[in-house]
Amino acid sequence: RAFHIYSTLNSVMPPIKREIYDFLVIGGGSGGLASARRAGQYGARVALVEESGRLGGTCVNVGCVPKKIMWNTGNMDLNPQRAWQVAFLMRSFLLLSCPLHILASISEALHDAIGYGFDIPNSSFNWNLIKNKRDAYIKRLNSIYENNLVKDKVEYFQGHASFVSTNVVRIQNGDDSEELEAKKILIATGGRPTIPPTSSIPGADLGISSDGFFLLEQQPKKVAVVGTGYIAVEIGGIFNTLGSDVTIFSRSEEILRSFDPIIKDTLLKEMTSQGVKLVPHSGIQELKSIGHAPAGVEGQGRPVSVRYTTHGHNMEEEFDVLLWAIGRSPNIEGLNLEKVNVKLNEKSYIISDEYQNTTSEHIYALGDVCGVALLTPVAIAAGRRLSDRLFGPAKFHNAKLDYSNIPTVVFSHPTSGTVGLTEPEARTQFGDDKVKTYVSRFTNMYNAMTDHKPPTAYKLVVVGEEEKVVGLHIIGRGSDEILQGFAVAIKMGATKADFDNTVAIHPTASEELVSLS
Ligand code: FAD
Ligand code: NDP
Repeated sequence: RAFHIYSTLNSVMPPIKREIYDFLVIGGGSGGLASARRAGQYGARVALVEESGRLGGTCVNVGCVPKKIMWNTGNMDLNPQRAWQVAFLMRSFLLLSCPLHILASISEALHDAIGYGFDIPNSSFNWNLIKNKRDAYIKRLNSIYENNLVKDKVEYFQGHASFVSTNVVRIQNGDDSEELEAKKILIATGGRPTIPPTSSIPGADLGISSDGFFLLEQQPKKVAVVGTGYIAVEIGGIFNTLGSDVTIFSRSEEILRSFDPIIKDTLLKEMTSQGVKLVPHSGIQELKSIGHAPAGVEGQGRPVSVRYTTHGHNMEEEFDVLLWAIGRSPNIEGLNLEKVNVKLNEKSYIISDEYQNTTSEHIYALGDVCGVALLTPVAIAAGRRLSDRLFGPAKFHNAKLDYSNIPTVVFSHPTSGTVGLTEPEARTQFGDDKVKTYVSRFTNMYNAMTDHKPPTAYKLVVVGEEEKVVGLHIIGRGSDEILQGFAVAIKMGATKADFDNTVAIHPTASEELVSLS
């Protein structure tokens, strides 16, 4: 908005003296917004540039938020078709102003209610209805973010930012361009899904990425997912619980390869028991179009015939859609980083130190564009700490984010959570004789009455005689909510004895964590 006001002024008036900002933030996603707002709250003169036209970045528009809504929708323990409409009717008269995620939790409870003796009538699931409601919710969030910038006196510029010099940035918006000068500049431009080039996999561009998943107007019946990380497991799981036939292509024979074995092995077994197929040691060779893309929106993908190898054998199979979930790449194109001596590592992520300083003085970088712990709360925390340090009171002169013991959750079915070292990492770091584990596997009492009995498995990794807890790995109903509190304890240096000295809350699943033997 500010961009348009200034451009109009410039076309009718002689050039005005360029304003000098204290802080210019490139990227209106999790990290950029958090940092800009915190600096604004300290009274700094702040400008924020976002190219997409909608604030919130990956998390709000094509990440955590719409993903969680879809996860909630699918989180109905098989056959959601039956639960959905009942939930909708229930919501209509019980919970008119209830947020969508609560609606979906109610749906799950209603489905499980069959196991608890309720007679739930059959009904059909409406993908399009949930998509439209989800999109409307995100639009509301976009404008809330815009209002928040106004509240904190951050000036919002729309357009693509690139460096002219170490303290001047050009904003290009269509044919209009504008230059802003700032004493300090933050790069928080995030990343985008990686799709293999068609030169290495012919037809690769016929597949979709997670961005395309959120554009789908219809639910595909048969889906191929390439990759076995967070996005593959989460989106593959959503498709599966909503009734699509899902095949995951793994270049190893595992999923979530970097996670503790208790999570990756338990989850793989559960996913395959729920009907997900895993093609191990596979490589995609070629995609050929076998039909039209659904009418309407670009990027929705189309039916494809997929030629691939598994264990060296050539195979071919048709799918309604193929989803690439093979990682993300940093958004650095067109920033002119070479002009300002901002250096990249071998994977093209921006190199920054523990204070988010880049290799160029007064230019900072954080969040996904730096390639370390690609998580929203990490970008937000790093952004706030940076502004605390640059613009806050003297007590924050050394503020920085501690990147150790960051808890993280995979919204799988059931959810998985992890904080600290995996058992193999701990054994490598401390030696086998110093490391001990405590493990428990059981069925959540909630599922005692239901047909489907998803697993629960917990592991504590402790080190040394004092048994300091260096890792916690949990999978099972509610793990996403359970982990946060335990992460506080581990961050504070809790030992196994501290866990044991905590009185259990009964009957819960998490009480198991304070009574492991
Ligand atoms: P972004 O949020 O990506 O913001 C960068 C912004 O910069 C974008 O808006 C972009 O348009 C803008 N930009 C880029 N280049 C320029 C330029 N030159 N000029 C102007 N603007 C520019 N994390 C979690 O913690 N929990 C989750 O459950 C979770 N789920 C996810 C699900 C999916 C499908 C995906 C893809 C990600 C998920 N993440 C999740 C990760 C999370 O979304 C990211 O870690 C987070 O958004 C990173 O924030 P950021 O500020 O670094 O970048
Ligand atoms: P991940 O890094 O989690 O996983 C990438 C996957 O792609 C791995 O399984 C990897 O296999 C595989 N892979 C890489 N290259 C190829 C290839 N050429 N062919 C086949 N497979 C390949 O990336 P995602 O894209 O899933 O997610 C990106 C990041 O976003 C995550 O790391 C996470 O930080 C964040 N995120 C967080 C979420 C959350 O907090 N719940 C949810 C979604 C995303 P291999 O294991 O063999 O290396």
